[in-house]
Amino acid sequence: RKGNVIITGASSGLGLATARALAETGKWHIIMACRNFLKAERAAKAAGIAKENYTVMHLDLASLDSVRQFVENFHRLGKPLDVLVCNAAVYLPTAKEPSFTAEGFELSVGTNHLGHFLLTRLLLDDMKQSDFTSKRVIIVGSITGNTNTLAGNVPPKANLGDLRGLSGGLNGLNGSPMIDGGDFDGAKAYKDSKVCNMLTMQEFHRRYHEETGITFASLYPGCIATTGLFREHIPLFRLLFPPFQKYITKGYVSEEEAGKRLAQVVSDPSLTKSGVYWSWNKNSASFENQLSKEASDAEKARKVWEISEKLVGLA
Ligand code: NDP
Repeated sequence: RKGNVIITGASSGLGLATARALAETGKWHIIMACRNFLKAERAAKAAGIAKENYTVMHLDLASLDSVRQFVENFHRLGKPLDVLVCNAAVYLPTAKEPSFTAEGFELSVGTNHLGHFLLTRLLLDDMKQSDFTSKRVIIVGSITGNTNTLAGNVPPKANLGDLRGLSGGLNGLNGSPMIDGGDFDGAKAYKDSKVCNMLTMQEFHRRYHEETGITFASLYPGCIATTGLFREHIPLFRLLFPPFQKYITKGYVSEEEAGKRLAQVVSDPSLTKSGVYWSWNKNSASFENQLSKEASDAEKARKVWEISEKLVGLA
């Protein structure tokens, strides 16, 4: 049978390019988990993904009710789940004031981390039941959360601090909307959310890999300077960022190439190692990359896990 893969945020950028790369192999059925149904349907058509290779399902990660509803709807499809790709994200670098999810969490961490955390936890039993040979959960990370890199050292740097803001619920009413308890900074909130993504992947690995055989992995696909992720940035930035990445940092990667990379992490038989963070070198060869001190801090990962469980209503 075909493998069944759920990709969140498959309506544009990396998620769409990955859906397309997997569909082209003829070996996958892609469940495109998207907040905008019509946009996703149009994107799939425009990308030339054949009708029999995908299903669009509604998922708004900025609402935990929507996450639960998505899981129920997925169960109704009656399909096994073999691979889950947590790809969707928002990035709000120019926001002066925080925005919030339906439950009142700051939007970047609420969407990128907490929504995916609940989704993955709720789908884990489905994955356990699948008879697929190489089951995988992939949480897309980023270089920007890794302060051991040049890109990760551009201020504001990621820093989860002692997690006091996260413990307080990130709602800005009785505390701070930032994980570390500081003042709101949209660019930092995104980077912090990516650190949570990478910590969560490792904590899943520690808790579930041996028991379930599921591979848990993260990756940095390269700088895909053309995606919608930068839609909230100032126009001058959007004009100069792609050529800057192409010619100066040389970290630029096309959406198509990035999609192939993520598709590799989904299906390549040689990328089954669990608990790792993949990157690619200049020749587009994959290698296991080093995470920053904070993004590989096991104690912090456990704390983020426990606080997140409470916030999403699992504990
Ligand atoms: P895009 O903005 O193109 O894609 C993000 C996707 O997430 C969109 O499909 C968007 O939906 C979806 N999304 C946003 N909010 C929600 C929500 N509440 N519920 C459901 N879906 C939502 O950006 P990219 O393709 O660049 O980003 C994909 C991933 O790659 C992210 O995890 C990002 O952190 C990561 N990444 C990107 C890099 C880059 O250089 N671009 C570098 C490193 C990592 P909609 O189409 O409706 O807007």
